[in-house]
Amino acid sequence: QDQRIPAYAAVLNEPQREAVLTTEGPVLMLAGAGTGKTAALTARLAHLIAMRRAWPSEILCVTFTNKAAREMRERVARHIGDAVEGMPWLGTFHSIGARMLRRHAELVGLQSNYTIIDTDDQLRLLKQLIQQNDLDEKRWPARQLAGLIDRWKNRGLNPGDLDAIENEAYANGRGAQFYKLYQDRLKELNACDFGDLLLHMLNIFRTHHDVLEQYQQRFKYILVDEYQDTNQVQYLWLRLLAQSRKNICVVGDDDQSIYSWRGAEVANILRFEKDFPGAAVIKLEQNYRSTPQILAAASGLINANSERLGKTLWTELPAGEKVRVIGVWDGPEEARRVGEEIERLEAEGAPLDQIAILVRAQYQTREFEDRFIQIGLNYRIVGGFRFYERAEIRDALAYLRMIEQPADDLAFERIHNQPKRGLGAKALETMRRHARRIQAPLAAASLDLADSDELPPRARNTLVGLLGQFAHWRDQSTKVTPSELLRMVVTESGYEEMLQKDRSAESAGRLENLSELARAMEDYESLTDFLEHVSLVMDNDARDDGEKVTIMTMHAAKGLEFDHVFLPGWEEGVFPSQRALDEGGLASLEEERRLAYVAITRAKRRCTILHAANRRIYGQWTSSIPSRFIEELPQDTVNRETTMAGGASLWRANWTENEDPFAHVSTSRPDRSTARGPGWQRALSTGYDATPKRLPEPGKSAASFAAKPRTDIAIGARVFHDKFGYGTVTDQEGNKLTIDFEKAGEKRVIDSFVKPAD
Ligand code: ATP
Ligand code: MG
Repeated sequence: QDQRIPAYAAVLNEPQREAVLTTEGPVLMLAGAGTGKTAALTARLAHLIAMRRAWPSEILCVTFTNKAAREMRERVARHIGDAVEGMPWLGTFHSIGARMLRRHAELVGLQSNYTIIDTDDQLRLLKQLIQQNDLDEKRWPARQLAGLIDRWKNRGLNPGDLDAIENEAYANGRGAQFYKLYQDRLKELNACDFGDLLLHMLNIFRTHHDVLEQYQQRFKYILVDEYQDTNQVQYLWLRLLAQSRKNICVVGDDDQSIYSWRGAEVANILRFEKDFPGAAVIKLEQNYRSTPQILAAASGLINANSERLGKTLWTELPAGEKVRVIGVWDGPEEARRVGEEIERLEAEGAPLDQIAILVRAQYQTREFEDRFIQIGLNYRIVGGFRFYERAEIRDALAYLRMIEQPADDLAFERIHNQPKRGLGAKALETMRRHARRIQAPLAAASLDLADSDELPPRARNTLVGLLGQFAHWRDQSTKVTPSELLRMVVTESGYEEMLQKDRSAESAGRLENLSELARAMEDYESLTDFLEHVSLVMDNDARDDGEKVTIMTMHAAKGLEFDHVFLPGWEEGVFPSQRALDEGGLASLEEERRLAYVAITRAKRRCTILHAANRRIYGQWTSSIPSRFIEELPQDTVNRETTMAGGASLWRANWTENEDPFAHVSTSRPDRSTARGPGWQRALSTGYDATPKRLPEPGKSAASFAAKPRTDIAIGARVFHDKFGYGTVTDQEGNKLTIDFEKAGEKRVIDSFVKPAD
């Protein structure tokens, strides 16, 4: 072994150093959170290069995210100066798989310039296949097939490898058939999906030994972070690559396995010693990240899991605060409280980028975004869209904007055919052309088209129906609350049905987001107020200055660390999630508990857990039970606070003294679920009833928007029409002309579409 201890290894403790210096043979580093696994792996990479054990291009290093890969590359460059010649194969499984496959694409029938399709394309393709093969898509949704194909690919299974049970999982035993149809179609398109990146390479390794040998020779060293979350295909791929030299070093923590829902198998790390006999097993026990209190809380919690290897963690860091558990009245108070705490930390000099809010589900970010906008706190959402940027939210907002402001053409263009109702690109082009000519907003101008022949009859009927719906919603908007209006729109427009038909986890999330939007709207008296608020939120997106608080999911936070971590929503049904509870199995509950362990151990100095006594779900107040995970925290590591100690009187005091613009909301809150408070009556009497932006009912004249009838065209005139050609005017009524076209016959058209024929 090397006698010298270079700078990058000097900062490491003894077992870490062993992991760095044991360069030959298999190494398993199995250790708890914050013990410096990733740090040791990075040092090992630097060491291998610095000691010239291998060229960078001869090392394969797999990280969990692209960001982690970037950080590792930077750190290695810092350690060993710019001696990094050539590029290490450093990145995620996907990025490395894609790079390899480019070189060997022809072996699986692709060209090297193949495209990688995304989920949307994948679904479109599957839908086509389902239709072409006369399968009922309602019964056998494309989403379901997509999920199965992902699962098969994650397990390294090709169509021919499916057993009877897997095959039976789709369309009464046609799983393999459709899987194969899909793979064939991808090949025709010179495309592959994410799952193929590794599966294709695995297939190539299995069938072309020369290629496998080439890589086995090339990769003198293999390093893998977060090994506990590898799935079967990744495992098989790595095992083949490592088989000849066996210089593979994997690091992980069985307690942090949180991706089994994506096919990850914690068993992979547990059988490493069997796969690679004689592996050096290195355990790290000193935690360098968290205070003793945080560490004890996390360790105590994970102890409740039965299926674990079990390990000791200790720290020399000075004692800090206990983990705080704060009970609040409801969601808005939770966001308010976190906002206050962050402002306090900021005042004490804490940098904002050392503060994170980790949520269980995406929809939970909304309440915090709203609050932070209000108090002017910079934040960023990592690993997901900001709430108001998500597609379904933008669609819903477009509907609302159209109701509020019929001249909002951008909004109308966004949703005129969403959900699909047969108003395609052509119809839109006709509407646009007419709107331009009469210089009126799109929707108003489209009314003109209702009884003309510019659009085919079906599109015309649909358009009339849609405009009628908008008139109805506009009318309702003065009678119901903004959030009731949203629910009405989401249901009546067919949007909800579209998502329900999807039957995928993703569309379930979208529905969740829409109910969260309805919840957000309950804080507003009028649609106008709400839309103004949203504009302000969106405006914040443009700012990209300075430090920001991070909001992200617990899953995305794996491997990261922050001085201060806030964990909101620790309630049964939120965390652990309702899905985990419904499944009811021990396994899913234990995975949620591991997620809690990951979440707490992200904190270096302070960890604050919150739970609310009430959540609004579909406009109804429901009381929530604190998460079982709170009970499982060793009580001596925890400080409990509650703002509800005095019962109703205390929270009442809280909200009446509240000076924020939502004060009226709090005041009317207790009777919200039963009857409307005074605020609502005020909204009703002074609402936007008075706003003079109403569209006339469909069928009636659009005179307020439309141009005047033309005076340069009279009955008997010969005219030219873009679509129908030449004809003679036989009747004129307002701006509508009846024309006897020479080729197309008699049509009713709008006069702005024709010009005199001479
Ligand atoms: P996780 O399981 O969350 O991925 P990890 O085991 O990968 O954690 P690291 O992120 O590598 O842990 O290290 C945690 C923190 O401890 C980092 O801030 C790192 O810089 C620091 N650290 C690691 N090793 C040492 C050491 N020997 N001395 C001092 N600090 C260290
Ligand atoms: Mg790590």
